[in-house]
Amino acid sequence: MATRVALVTGGTGGIGTAICKKLADQGHKVATNYRNEEKARAWQAQMQAEGYSFTLVKGDVTSPEEAERMVREVEQQLGPIEILVNNAGITRDGTFHKMKADQWNDVINTNLNSVFNVTRPVIDGMRERKWGRIIQISSINGLKGQYGQANYAAAKAGMHGFTISLARENAKLGITVNTVSPGYVATDMVMAVPEEVRAKIAADIPTGRLGKPEEIAYAVAFLVDEQAAWITGSNLDINGGHHMGW
Ligand code: NDP
Repeated sequence: MATRVALVTGGTGGIGTAICKKLADQGHKVATNYRNEEKARAWQAQMQAEGYSFTLVKGDVTSPEEAERMVREVEQQLGPIEILVNNAGITRDGTFHKMKADQWNDVINTNLNSVFNVTRPVIDGMRERKWGRIIQISSINGLKGQYGQANYAAAKAGMHGFTISLARENAKLGITVNTVSPGYVATDMVMAVPEEVRAKIAADIPTGRLGKPEEIAYAVAFLVDEQAAWITGSNLDINGGHHMGW
């Protein structure tokens, strides 16, 4: 199996951690970003205790300058980035008629503009070397919409348009571009939702439970595989059957 260099944004979060581990288990060299030094140190210590060694670079993905610096730092430490997983994301929920501009802008900047900021400094190298894997972690709610998430659904739906355009532009250069759309996964993001709402969500999922971060990481590993070279411009729905069809 080839060893590649991977950058996973938001790798210290619930789904991101599982993706970092899965890619490392596959033999890849994995880097991620952090914003808070103390939180990053605690995460790194936990990972080391579990036998993992990840490269951590400081950077906020909402800033084009920081994203570029982050990418160059990873390249300096590990070599050219061959796998990029745009995973960092936030929610700032609220019904649209009460939504403030800050709620809209924070979510669009973090979940969608970040994809431009991080992919832009990575894409030229992939095109030159004629190999790359780019994966956006979108969401079930970018496909079906969600009450109180006009901002989040708009950003996550935007990831699909980005993915299928970038896939077309780079298909002949050995670069695949895909989205993974998780349903509700038990991470801090979802555990912040009130318990009674979570119970209702779980009851609505055909498998009867929330997803595990490892189940999303598995989809990423599948798309990253050398054998997945003909899968591009696709979206993988990983949601326990919560949203089916086209
Ligand atoms: P977490 O809140 O656990 O993790 C989010 C990660 O993103 C953290 O590492 C966080 O870092 C990072 N991050 C947030 N904002 C920025 C920023 N401006 N710059 C750099 N890093 C940032 O969320 P999940 O693991 O649950 O979610 C991961 C992705 O999966 C998100 O894109 C989310 O929208 C998507 N998703 C999640 C679902 C779920 O059910 N959990 C369902 C569908 C999609 P920090 O610690 O610094 O805040």
